[in-house]
This record gives sequence, structure tokens and C-alpha cells, in this order.
Amino acid sequence: MSQYWSELTASLVPYVPGEQPKDQRYIKLNTNENPYPPSPKVIEAIQAATNADLRLYPDPTCEPLREVLAQYYGLTKEHVFVGNGSDEILAFAFPAFFSADRTILFPDITYTFYPVYAKLYGINYETIPTDEQFNIDARQYGIPNGGIIIPNPNAPTARFMLVDQLKTILEANRSQVVIVDEAYVDFGGESVVPLVAGYHNLLVVQTLSKSRSLAGLRVGMAVGHPDLIEGLNRIKNSFNSYTLDRLALAGAVAAIEDQAYFENTNRKVIATREWTIEALKPLGFQAIESKANFIFVTHPERSAPELFASLKSRGILVRYFNKPRIDQYLRVSIGTDEEMEAFVSAVKAILQTEA
Ligand code: PMP
Repeated sequence: MSQYWSELTASLVPYVPGEQPKDQRYIKLNTNENPYPPSPKVIEAIQAATNADLRLYPDPTCEPLREVLAQYYGLTKEHVFVGNGSDEILAFAFPAFFSADRTILFPDITYTFYPVYAKLYGINYETIPTDEQFNIDARQYGIPNGGIIIPNPNAPTARFMLVDQLKTILEANRSQVVIVDEAYVDFGGESVVPLVAGYHNLLVVQTLSKSRSLAGLRVGMAVGHPDLIEGLNRIKNSFNSYTLDRLALAGAVAAIEDQAYFENTNRKVIATREWTIEALKPLGFQAIESKANFIFVTHPERSAPELFASLKSRGILVRYFNKPRIDQYLRVSIGTDEEMEAFVSAVKAILQTEA
């Protein structure tokens, strides 16, 4: 006989993360990690923090990191929240700012975690259609709602919006929280952090996982009016274990302080992205314009799942989503120049040999 709780857990549809295979070494272009190592100063800082103080709990307010981030953003530490990856911050934001009786909005093609959190917290959502080329139309976000999430650039499409378009959304929604998820903004996008001073309902979420090469450290940050930060703190403090650990705090401070390293690796990723798009064009691929560390590509005559499988058999992992509207696309993270050359060569070989 089925128990009531087994039906409850069965009704949860969790997020399915990209593969982290252990069976062989792949050229891993499937989870938007940065191909370059973190700044050497980050490694030094973590090594220096690996000492007897690990017996002590970390600072629950994460002050030094929030100070450094406040300086970086030109705001105060009361405007800054940090969490174990931006996913954790999003997980706090849902119960903090959205309620079960008011429908929230996000684009139809977007980061799959948003519907997962909405279902988990019992929050209704409506998806707003993107156009044929996955553009988000800001004017469609003027309908009544209980909050909005916009990823910019979007994932997995790589489409980005201009600050003025996001302003249109903020203007039409002054009494609800608008979250702009800027996980990929550092690869040529435009941040809305400068709008925080003018819009008390704007929460900007960023991460060290992509542009700072620290997916393994799990550090994300949110910037917004102190009232929003207080909302996040209330959720965080309702649990016991959710502060950043001592090593993550030390590494994150060093990462933010090493601006030159960050700019240099981002420049390389952007240049490699543009090279890859140009190399794929003569092979018949179409790419959505990208300001992220990945590209979203389709080939009018080739099946995406077959390309995915052929690449995997050649030791190259990309991401395929078996979902309506995007099931003929591949999302390819930008690796090093050598990795992307190997990817393009493999694609060429597949197109030539596999009819
Ligand atoms: N937002 C978007 C749009 C993402 O693609 C990701 C990474 N999968 C995240 C947030 C979460 O990143 P992290 O938890 O590593 O900060």
C-alpha cells in the first residue's frame, strides 16, 4: 500500500544537473564551468586558511566577504548577501519574496531550477513565451503577478537583454520583487547592479562559479536594497547550517580582489567563444548571439541528439535538453582554445562521415 509521503516525494520533480562522468576523461563542455583554474591568489588564501582555526565555526555574517563585495559594487555591506552558490540564494529568495497565492513569471525557455523551486514551495508560476529566436519581450511582463525572475544572459539560450529592457520590467512591477539572475553577466553582458539604488524591488544574483572559475567552492552573492537582504537573512537564519565555510570565505575574498586575473580569463573565454561561433558557421550551424561562457547552436540538417551522442562517443561532452522548442539545439560551454579546436574538428569529422 502506498504511503501518503511516497506520493509527496514522487510529486517532486527535481532539477537534473549536467553529467559529471567518472568513466573516462572527457573534454567537458557540458556544465558551463570555466576552463581556466582559479586565480593563484585564491589557492594561496585557501591554503593559508587551512589551519587550526578550522575547529572554530565560521563568521555567520560573512562580513569580510560582504565588505569586499560592497566595495566592488560601490554599495554598502547591508546591500550584499552571500550564499553557498547562487542556487542557494535563489532557494532562499523563493520563500522570502514569493507567496503561494500570487503567480510569479519567468520566460518559457530558462534555467530549469526556477520551476523546481516554485513547485517545492507551492508557488504558482506562468511562463512568458520567448520568440522564435528566444528573445524575451519586456513588454509582456506588465501583467499582474507576484514576482518575476529574469536570467540575463538567459540559460540555456545565451540570449541577453539590455539594461533598458530590464528597466521596462522594473518600472511596470514596482511593488513585486524582480530577481535578475546574472550568473553569466561577466562574459560581455550588462549588469543591472547600478539600478539597485533606484529600484528597491530589484535583487541581482551573481556567482563566483563561472567568471571566477570557482564552481567547486560554492559561492554566490545577491545585491539589493537592505530590506531585501534582510528578507534573505531571515530565511537563512531559520536554518542552522547555511553559512559559508572558512575556506570558501577566504577563497572568495581573494577571488574578488584579483580583478586583473578575472578580466584576463574573461577576455580569453570571450575571444574563444567568438572563434568557435565563426568556426561553426561554415559547417552549417546557427548560433544564438551569446554573451555567456557557452553557446546555443543548431544545425538545420542534423539531429541534435545524434550529434550529442556522436560527440560523446568521441570523448566530448556537451549538453542536450530533450525538451520542446530546444530539442534540436546543443549547449556548448566554452573551453580552452585547444578544447574548442578539438570540438570543431570532431564536429567536422561527424558531419563528413556520418550521413
Ligand atoms: N543561475 C543560472 C542561470 C545558472 O545557469 C546557474 C548554474 N547552473 C546558477 C544560477 C547556479 O550557479 P551556482 O549555484 O554555481 O552559483
